[in-house]
Amino acid sequence: MARDTGPQCKQCRREGQKLFLKGERCLTDKCGVERRSYPPGEHGRGRQKQSEYRVQLREKQKARRYYGVLERQFRGYYQKASRQTGITGENLLRLLECRLDNVLVRLGFAASRRQARQLIRHGHWTVNGRRVDIPSYQVRPGEVIAITADSPAAQVVRNATELTGQIPAWLQADHESLTAKVLRTPERREVAAPVQEQLIVELYSK
Ligand code: SF4
Repeated sequence: MARDTGPQCKQCRREGQKLFLKGERCLTDKCGVERRSYPPGEHGRGRQKQSEYRVQLREKQKARRYYGVLERQFRGYYQKASRQTGITGENLLRLLECRLDNVLVRLGFAASRRQARQLIRHGHWTVNGRRVDIPSYQVRPGEVIAITADSPAAQVVRNATELTGQIPAWLQADHESLTAKVLRTPERREVAAPVQEQLIVELYSK
């Protein structure tokens, strides 16, 4: 499966803000954005033209990088969102937010989406008692997420729970048993992604 394996701090520097892609390191003064708060590359410190297209493109790239989704897959999410009823931008964010890898991060079971994807691909998680090894799996209300019995990754997951901030109200987590439940789908105000989704819709609807 294709995936983005490039340097993550460069991605944050390109977007000009912390996207928290590396887990614990993002909370320290080793953070790439803290150290070099200008875009990467030879011309990173030069002046950059701001066009409407550029602003929209950057917003889309930021969302893609935040959720760790490649271009083709991201466009697929957009197309699916535009076919759903309701506001396309909000539908798009909801689809991204309900990915199993993102949900593990929101629950505090992984320090980063990249770590979450690895844990899922290696078969450490179940949904409603069945092993799920697809990071893009869409969670649904009522589903129960749990670490597999005797998983060797349990300590890694417990370490991640220590970094957890607040768990969003649409999820419920038990950090003792490493289980969780999806209570409902998230509302827009509960999605903590630093993204203006309307700009992405404008970009794709050109
Ligand atoms: Fe981004 Fe984290 Fe790197 Fe900071 S440490 S630049 S937040 S990935």
